Amino acid sequence: MRRKLIEELKERGISDENILQAFDATPRHFFLDLAFEKQAYSNTAFQIGKGQTISHPYTVAFQTQLLELKKREKILEIGTGSGFQTAILCQLGTKVFSIERHRELYLNAKNILEKLGHQPRLNFGDGFKGLPTFAPFDKILVTCGAPFIPQALLDQLKVGGILVIPVGEGKKQIMTRMIKLSETEFEEATYGDFSFVPMLENKAK
Ligand code: SAH
Repeated sequence: MRRKLIEELKERGISDENILQAFDATPRHFFLDLAFEKQAYSNTAFQIGKGQTISHPYTVAFQTQLLELKKREKILEIGTGSGFQTAILCQLGTKVFSIERHRELYLNAKNILEKLGHQPRLNFGDGFKGLPTFAPFDKILVTCGAPFIPQALLDQLKVGGILVIPVGEGKKQIMTRMIKLSETEFEEATYGDFSFVPMLENKAK
């Protein structure tokens, strides 16, 4: 089933071998309710509790590809959710920091990622603020729909770094990539419509 999913990702344009290998090495069924186990490798999103979803594998792969990751880079992820995307980033040999606003999801992800032997630094809190203590980051990945691009995240990016963020309120977000050219200049590009749960400010609970 995992192989079939990887073939599907390839057909849809995911060409980075390291990313395909990371999918091959990551048991997505660990991140889903047992009831969903049989469908874990189909290309769909699932409820993970608290009204949140684990992203479509294609979306995870697409966002990861836009980050152009290199081993040992320092990554900040906003929206840990199930922890599946976090596991993919860890599998790619990066140093991952992640923030989740739901305590229960944060605890759950912590548990699963530990079981898989990954060591990301998970945080419970509000992603709009980023993690100033650990900044700057080589790359920042937002996995919830942002109403706008938070200034704190642009500030916490290294010059030469990349921010990938789905921007827009309502049902659709535009996948946006910002490359930081200097402290004040960014190159912006967009990559089509996606659908994410909303990024909510000051709602850590
Ligand atoms: N990367 C996740 C995607 C989960 S959905 C995965 O692979 O499963 C997005 C997550 O973002 C949800 O869990 C939601 O609770 C969280 N989120 C929304 N707004 C947030 C905020 N301001 N700070 C941190 N997390 C947030």
